[in-house]
Amino acid sequence: MRYAVLSDIHANLEALEAVLDDARAQHCDDFVCLGDVVGYNANPSECLQRVRELGCPVVKGNHDEQASIAFSTEEFNEMAEEAIGWTRAHLSAEEKAWLADLRLTRQVRDFTIVHATLDTPGHWGYVFNDLDAIASFTYQHTQLCFFGHTHWPTAFVREDSVQRIAVGRIVLAPGRKYLINPGSIGQPRDRDWRAAYCIYDLERNVVEQRRVKYDLETAQRKIGQAGLPQRLADRLAAGR
Ligand code: ZN
Repeated sequence: MRYAVLSDIHANLEALEAVLDDARAQHCDDFVCLGDVVGYNANPSECLQRVRELGCPVVKGNHDEQASIAFSTEEFNEMAEEAIGWTRAHLSAEEKAWLADLRLTRQVRDFTIVHATLDTPGHWGYVFNDLDAIASFTYQHTQLCFFGHTHWPTAFVREDSVQRIAVGRIVLAPGRKYLINPGSIGQPRDRDWRAAYCIYDLERNVVEQRRVKYDLETAQRKIGQAGLPQRLADRLAAGR
């Protein structure tokens, strides 16, 4: 059984379709989604539809939350706020209700999924360093948890202490806990423009990071045509 772990799609349809093609070529038959399906890029409805077609467990991201309500309750920068307003106007009432109904955390088989952190999932804190990871690990009751939100592929392991480890290929060892971020599909910020996701192989106990090239130019052109800020198109190419 191989899960594709999808996060921070952010309405980038070209990136999502490239990842789904890659995941199927890599024999993934199951999927989970760590939230922020919408926000920033130009295809929120289409991405929502693709994710719903997967019929997979999905948790709520902060952009999903803000897109599903009438007025922002979270402080966003100007560019993100403009994109959230645009996204609200381009989702149906039914789509917003679906987003609003998402839960903040879920357990899937023997692992947990969350968008931000397990300690305060609805406060949308970021796990960037060991201290952030320690707080989240306190509430982690499974060996493995996947999280998103930072758009950085990252992995932490807890044995006696908490350490950051390299993403790439992680073999899960008994007696240790793992907190892993697959990176972002639709808006990577680690200076690599390619879409990021993870594959979790349950039989082999391995989590493997993947990067996938996609039709960047089309995604950028759509942002321009939608009237979204040009900076959102530029940052896709820069991967930041
Ligand atoms: Zn995000």
